[in-house]
Amino acid sequence: MTDTEQVVVRAYIAEHKEVWLAQLKEWLRTGGISGHREYIEDVEQSAQWLAEALTEVGVAEVEVWETPGHPAVFGSWPAAEPAATTVLLYGHHDLHPLGSLKFWEHRPFDPVVVGEELRARGAIDDKGQIAAHLLGLKAHLAATRRTTPAVNLKFLIEGEAEHGSDNLRQLLEDHVEQLSCDVIVVSDTAMFNRDTPSICISTRGLVTAEITATGPSMDLHSGVFGGAVPNPIHALTTLLAGLHDSTGRVTIPGFYDNVVEPSSAERAGISGLPFDERSWLPDIATSRAMTGERGYSTLERIGIRPTAEVNGIWSGYTGEGIKTIIPSTANALVSFRLVANQDPAEIRQLVTEHIAANSPIGTNIAVKFPYSDYRPVRTPVDHPANQALLRAMHKAFETEIRYTHEGTSGPLAHLVEVLAAPAIFLGMALPDDRFHAPNERARLPLLHKGAEAAAYLWTELANLVTK
Ligand SMILES: [Zn+2]
Repeated sequence: MTDTEQVVVRAYIAEHKEVWLAQLKEWLRTGGISGHREYIEDVEQSAQWLAEALTEVGVAEVEVWETPGHPAVFGSWPAAEPAATTVLLYGHHDLHPLGSLKFWEHRPFDPVVVGEELRARGAIDDKGQIAAHLLGLKAHLAATRRTTPAVNLKFLIEGEAEHGSDNLRQLLEDHVEQLSCDVIVVSDTAMFNRDTPSICISTRGLVTAEITATGPSMDLHSGVFGGAVPNPIHALTTLLAGLHDSTGRVTIPGFYDNVVEPSSAERAGISGLPFDERSWLPDIATSRAMTGERGYSTLERIGIRPTAEVNGIWSGYTGEGIKTIIPSTANALVSFRLVANQDPAEIRQLVTEHIAANSPIGTNIAVKFPYSDYRPVRTPVDHPANQALLRAMHKAFETEIRYTHEGTSGPLAHLVEVLAAPAIFLGMALPDDRFHAPNERARLPLLHKGAEAAAYLWTELANLVTK
C-alpha cells in the first residue's frame, strides 16, 4: 500500500464523516432491543435500515434473513479477482436493554454528540462499529480506485446477540455455503485503553453446570436427625470447596490436559500492557485482595487461564427466623471458563466423572448442563490474518499495536466452529464506553480510526494464504 492511499483514505474520512454521522444517528434512532417483545418491530426496522445502507454502499447481494427470533442481515460483494481472500464481517445490530431510564442523561434513542462522544444506546455496541466499517469500505474503494472491494466481502450482522444468539447456530448451518469464508472479522470489542490500541487474539469458552445434591427424601428436623443423617448442603459445599487446591488450580482430573500454555512471547506481551493493578483492584474489581492460580499474573488469570467459579448456591431455609432442618436438596450453579484447546464436551465429561467420584455415601450428587456451551476462540499472533490486521491498525494509529485477551465468551465461537475459519478482532471501543450500561457512548475519533484501519484491512487481507 502506498502513502497516497493513506492520504486518500484519511481525506475521504475527513470529508465524509459528518454525512456518515448523520446516517449513523438515523440508524441509532431505529432502536432495536432484542430482549424485549415490545421492541420486536424496532429490530426489524433496524435490519431494514442496515440492508438499505449496504445496498447504498454498493454491496451486490443483500438479504434480510428472518429467524424464529429476530432478523439478521446478510450481504455479499465479490471482488473483481475471484481468487481473492473471502472475508466475513460479523457483528450485531440489536441492542442491549436500557435498564432504568432515570440513569440516562439523554434519551437513549435520540443520539447526541457531546464533545468527541456520540451518546446513544448502540453508539458503540455494535451499530457504531458496523457503521465505521461502511465508512471504511467507501474510503477503501476511493483510495484503491476499485468498484468492488479487494476481498470477497461478506456481511453477517445478526439481530439476537444481546439476547443469547439463540438462532445463530441454526442460521449458520442453514446458510453454511453462502457464509463460507477464509477469515472472520469481528468488530464488537474494546481496545486496551485510549493510548494503547490493541487487537484481541482470544476469547474464552464456557461450560455451565447445575449441580444438585440430594439427601433425605424430605426436609428433616435437625434436632431429631442432625448428626446422624448426611446433610446435602455439607456434601455440596465440600465438593465445591474442593474444586481448587491451595495453589488455586482446578482439581478436576484432566482439566488442564489440553490447555495450550502461553508462549514466552505471549506472556511478555501481556506483561508489557500498561495495567495498573493497584487501581484496578479497588476501582474496577471493587475487591480488597487478589486471588487465583499461582504463577500467573492478574491479566493472565482473567484472560488466558481456565477457571471454575461457583455462581450461585441455593438450598434449605432462607426465610426469616429459625427453621432447624436438614434440607432434602442443595443446588449450585458452577461455570467453567475454557481456553484453547479445551473442548466443552470433554470438560462436561470430566466434571461429571469428578462429581460421581466425589459423592459421599447417602448423598446423591447429580450434574446437568442445561445451557449452551461456547468454545474458546484463539487466533495466534503470528497467524497471517492477525499480521494483516496488525499492519492495518498500525497504518491507522501509527503507534505500537498490542495484543489482548478477552476473558468473556460469546456467539462468535459458533461462527469459528461452523464456518471453520479463524476470527480476528478489529475493536474500536474503549473499556469504559458503557457497554450494556446507561449513557453508552462511542468516541468519534476512535470510530474514525477504526474506519481507517478497516479501509486498509481489505487490501492487507486480499492475498492472504490461510489454507
Ligand atoms: Zn456487542
